[in-house]
Amino acid sequence: MEALACVLHAEKDLRIETVPVAEVKEDQVLVRIGAGGICGSDLHYYLDGGFGVVRVRQPIVLGHEVAGTVEAVGAKVTRVKAGDRIALNPSRPCGKCKFCQAGEHHHCLDMWFYGSAMRLPHSQGAFRELIVVEEYQCEPVGDTVSLGEAACCEPLSVALHAVQQAGSLTGKRVLVTGSGPIGALVVAAARYAGALEVVATDLHDAALKKAVEMGATRTVNVSIEPGLKAEEFTADKGYFDVAIECTGAGAVLKDVFPVLRPRGTIVQVGVSGEVPISRQGNPPGRRLPLRWRIRPGGSSDQGRADQCQADHHRHAAHRACR
Ligand SMILES: [Zn+2]
Ligand SMILES: [Zn+2]
Repeated sequence: MEALACVLHAEKDLRIETVPVAEVKEDQVLVRIGAGGICGSDLHYYLDGGFGVVRVRQPIVLGHEVAGTVEAVGAKVTRVKAGDRIALNPSRPCGKCKFCQAGEHHHCLDMWFYGSAMRLPHSQGAFRELIVVEEYQCEPVGDTVSLGEAACCEPLSVALHAVQQAGSLTGKRVLVTGSGPIGALVVAAARYAGALEVVATDLHDAALKKAVEMGATRTVNVSIEPGLKAEEFTADKGYFDVAIECTGAGAVLKDVFPVLRPRGTIVQVGVSGEVPISRQGNPPGRRLPLRWRIRPGGSSDQGRADQCQADHHRHAAHRACR
């Protein structure tokens, strides 16, 4: 059997091609993909041929944020049946390494993550008509969830994980810097977690509008002065209890420190290279716990990036779909 797939051959060389569909083994599931989200990493592969040291060195099917409908199941599969609509977990840990043995699959030393060029041969992705997956990768979604929404499970899992790093948000004032897809999902997750206020920032009004739709109580366009330097944010040692940094622009942190109250928490979600942290904006005695939630990209090494990708899966599987 064959199916169409979205294959990247090199920078800006994306082709729709026919690829073989594997036999469905007894513990596997054949899924017809119905929706897929384009991740920042997919964009980097297409626009730049990769990111940092991770380069496309052979044809790769992109895509890891996908959902679809079960077409057929192997004889031993009980979790799903034909016709079920599912979100697909894009992580495939080895099940054998010391971390997998310890139940910490997200730290797997031999992770295969859909649509990743970090390893060679590349781990092929899920932007294709039909795909054979493992039973454990299938997460059924409710009837009221569209496949488009289900495809958001993976990025939503990033947001849920980020929010979880901040501890209880009940009654807290939360700053979310950057209102792209991840930032917008973090806004929703923060509200869901009970934040009293969620202030979203961005350089663009269109993104801020989306942040409001996702639950932001207020927005700040930081391309317009004073932005976060406004007196109301910096007064009394800082307005926010928690900052969740989703831009990945290292320079943003220097604006975050002055608006974060002493003993506040910063969760770093966005990818960045160098992060300049000066004492100027971070006076001694503030004791700011910084939770580093690095995503794949930039200068991150493979092990760390795989680990982070696996984090997506863990939370996608167990929380996002519900
Ligand atoms: Zn993604
Ligand atoms: Zn493993």
